[in-house]
Amino acid sequence: MNEENTSIHDFDFNLICEYFSGLERQGPGSPEVTIKALSFIDNLTNDSQIADIGCGTGGQTMVLAGNAAGQITGIDLFPMFIDLFNLNAGNLNLQNRVKGIVGSMENLPFKDEQLDLIWSEGAIYNTGFENGINQWRRFLKTGGYIAVSEASWFTEERPDEIDMFWTHEYPEIDTIANKVAQMQKAGYIPAATFILPENCWTRHFYEPQVPAQKNFLEKYAGNKMAQQLIENQRHEAQLYYRYKAYYGYAFYIGKKI
Ligand code: SAH
Repeated sequence: MNEENTSIHDFDFNLICEYFSGLERQGPGSPEVTIKALSFIDNLTNDSQIADIGCGTGGQTMVLAGNAAGQITGIDLFPMFIDLFNLNAGNLNLQNRVKGIVGSMENLPFKDEQLDLIWSEGAIYNTGFENGINQWRRFLKTGGYIAVSEASWFTEERPDEIDMFWTHEYPEIDTIANKVAQMQKAGYIPAATFILPENCWTRHFYEPQVPAQKNFLEKYAGNKMAQQLIENQRHEAQLYYRYKAYYGYAFYIGKKI
């Protein structure tokens, strides 16, 4: 494969994990947004069972645990993230209520109708939004909730450069109206939808990466893969600053019928 065709998907996952594990979160979001999304969910008790799918190192999971009753299982594909997740839970004295396990969102270790709430911030794109909300539904009790954040178009039309970038990275990016319709069709009442404020991308995601990128490049001086990884991240950030009027993340909250 020549370099021009090299995409982020081909990189050494260990390198990617190392880069992202140095950050508080691995996707756009904020504590305020997690708490806001939680405010639409009204069925939780100390016995509730919650799954946080694609939890990463648990930035949002610990906020969830601080603001919601119940037992939380975080699931992520990467052991490096789960090790840090469990360390974070222990440091916050949450280890009795919050456990991280290695697993795939495509093969979840739950029983049918076991869960009261499925949470997933900036991660469902790995299996595709429509596929994820359909496949995960059986693990929810009737009346249980799903709350996911997902890349979404804000407008019907947008400049070619950003359209092409996202169509390549994640062809399922779509308008909020279309995603809500998918949720309805999958068997949920669309309980709430809101756009994540810009600071979820800037202050909480791209800005902390600036010093992290500098350190990473110093550590891996001369490593082509590391340089390409950082270049891709910087490119993505530049596109966000240029085209943020056209896309962002939205939270989708649905109640299983
Ligand atoms: N929820 C976190 C992380 C978002 S990044 C946050 O908002 O900060 C997306 C996460 O999905 C990464 O941690 C990645 O390791 C995880 N992931 C990717 N594919 C996965 C899969 N098939 N199953 C479970 N987790 C997966």
